[in-house]
Formats: sequence, structure tokens, C-alpha cells
Amino acid sequence: MSAHDQLGALELQPIAARVLHEALERGTNHAWLLTGEPGAGTLEAVAAIARATLCPAGTGSDGCDTCERVDRHVHPDLCWVKPEGFDLRVEQIHEVAARATRRPFEGHAQVIVLEDADSLDSTNAESGNALLKMLEEPPGNVVFVLLARRPARMLATLRSRSIEIRLPPLPDETIAAALAARPTTTTAPLDNATLVGWARGDLARALDLRAGGDAFERTTLARALSGALATGQRRPAEVARALAERCEAVGAQAEATAEAAIEAELERTPEKEAKRHRNDKSADGMAARVRRSGRRARVSELQALIDDMSAWYLDLMAIANGVTDHICRAGTTAELEPIAASPLGPRAVAAIDALEECALRARTNNADLNLLLPALCAELASLAEGRVRSRRTISGGARTPQGYDLALG
Ligand SMILES: [Zn+2]
Repeated sequence: MSAHDQLGALELQPIAARVLHEALERGTNHAWLLTGEPGAGTLEAVAAIARATLCPAGTGSDGCDTCERVDRHVHPDLCWVKPEGFDLRVEQIHEVAARATRRPFEGHAQVIVLEDADSLDSTNAESGNALLKMLEEPPGNVVFVLLARRPARMLATLRSRSIEIRLPPLPDETIAAALAARPTTTTAPLDNATLVGWARGDLARALDLRAGGDAFERTTLARALSGALATGQRRPAEVARALAERCEAVGAQAEATAEAAIEAELERTPEKEAKRHRNDKSADGMAARVRRSGRRARVSELQALIDDMSAWYLDLMAIANGVTDHICRAGTTAELEPIAASPLGPRAVAAIDALEECALRARTNNADLNLLLPALCAELASLAEGRVRSRRTISGGARTPQGYDLALG
């Protein structure tokens, strides 16, 4: 097998890769917007932009020490900003502004990556406008890379100041070929067709599923709980508790990681300053930062579970409507057929609506997962029993978790 067979997710996106490389060759762009899932090529695109910007030879593909450190995310002029809570906070944008006016550590430029830039929406306009100011009058040689899964939410002014590269979900055939090009010695926990279906166009997710990692555990749980709820094998309260427990475990882990990271940061600051930060009870203090990290992880986990549950209902809807050939995945049909023939079949679209609404509510600041989840599960159980009528019909424009229009005609 040649090295060519193992293409990264970005090379599997020929249109996006071409637009990106042409824009990089033209140079001088200081703001990029990369839209799509991380495993559909977004992360490789960030690396390509950062290498092209920071590489002393200017090629970004010469495998030099700089390029290599960019790929490992250990270059000091590559700065990566993630929201601590849900949104990029205005304090974080001010920190970015301060950093952008300082000189690069090593070379002639710096790259600042902002994750979840779609949190810069109309409800978070203060942060968005602070960033906009920098994009309008870029300080020195700084390249901003904004990452967004749902760019439509973003402030339009930010979007229009950036070169947008779209990285849509990869086609199933592409994921299947990419998996085949990366042989594995371990036995995959799923057959290939199921694996590809569950990956939903995300190569990183496909690889994680195959390795039995986090994505595998989460997806298996979400699908099993959906099935148990639909068939009445488990009560809504039990399913809600199982979902909440998984989110709680992930949140607690994130809090521990955040606390360790802040402590490591404080080791490098003067003792007096470190002590002040540890005891600071304000929104900038250590306790609040740790809490925000936990909350973000809990709700992100819930959103990932909801995406997986929606995918299960989508398969169900496909079977109920007889379009199994291009939506439903091998391996799941036998399990779903009897459920599709039950009262839930025609109501699957309402279940997807309920899930989407729950995911949206979970993002608001004072949403309590311990209230949201029992309500969600009770509604899903009612749909399974045929007690709730469908909220909207398929012709009303159902969407998949990836935002595709489901024109089932
Ligand atoms: Zn280089």
C-alpha cells in the first residue's frame, strides 16, 4: 500500500482542499472560517493554514521542525482558544486581543484558533463585536481561524470578514474506502456497514468507533436506550437517569482536567497572584472556570448523545417510509423493523423534534439536565405508545442531525 492510500480527512474533501490551497497561495488572508465536524477535515485544514503561515520556508509542506511542531500543537505561535463554558466569553476575546498585539515568540507571525465560533451569535454580541474589531483592523501579522459547526448562528458581520471553507460530512463510500486503507489488527466491534452508518460522515468518529473508543461507548448506549424506551423495556425515568449519569461522569472528568490545567498554569505565576486566583470567587476565579468547563462537557456530551439518538430515530423513520436502501444501515434493520411498524414509526419525526428542542434548551445558561432529561424521555415514551400525535409531518421539512433536508418525497 502506498502512503497515498492513507489520505487525511481534508484530502478526502477535494473541493474544500482546492479552495483552501488556492486561497493560501494567494496569501494575505487574516481570517478563516472553517465549518463542519472536526473529523470531516476541519482539524487538518487548521494545520494546513497554521503551517503555511508559520513555516520559515513559507511552504508549510516541507516537514521542517516548525511544521512538525504545528502538527503536534506544540508551537508557541499557534494559540488555541476554546470556550470555557458554552460561549467564547468577552474576557477570552480580550485576552486574545492582548495576545495578538504582542510579538510572536519565534517567527514572524502567529495563528489564533477560536473553537466554537458559532457561539458568537446575537445573544453573545459583546464577544462577537470585540472580535470583529480585530478582524476589521488586524493587529500585526496575526491569522485568525474560526471553527464553527453551525455557522448560520454566527454574527453575519464576522462571517463576511472571513474566507469560509466548508467541510461537509464525507460520503459513506469515502469513509468506507478510508477505513479499508487503514487496516487494523484489533477486531472491530461493528461490521463495516454499521460502522460507516454510525460515523455520519466523520472519519475521526469512524476510527474511534472501530477502535471501541468513547464514540463507540456513547453511540451504543444512546441506541440501546432509544430502543429500550421505544419498546417499553425501560421506564422513562430510568433512561433519563442513565443519560444524566453519563453526562455527569464526563463533566466530573472535565472538571478534574480543567483544575489540573489551571494549577499547572498557576505554577508558572508568582505565588501571591496564584493564591489570589485560587481564592477568587468571581466569574474569573478558579472555581468558576472549573465549573464552566464541567458544564460545557456535560452539555456537549448530552448533545452528542442526542445526535446519536436522533440518528436512531432517523433510521426508524427511513424504515417506516420504506427508504431503507440509502439511509438505513445494514445490521440495524432487523432490530428496527418491528418498531417501525409500531405507532412510533410515523411519529419518529416528532421524536427527532423533541430531541432537537432538548439539545437547544440544554445550552441555555440555567437549564437543569435533571429536569430536561425526564421530560424528554417521558415525551419519547408517549410517542412510542402512540399517545402523542406527530408535531409535524415529513413534508414539513425534517432535518437529519447533520442538517440535511430530508426530502423523502
Ligand atoms: Zn515548514
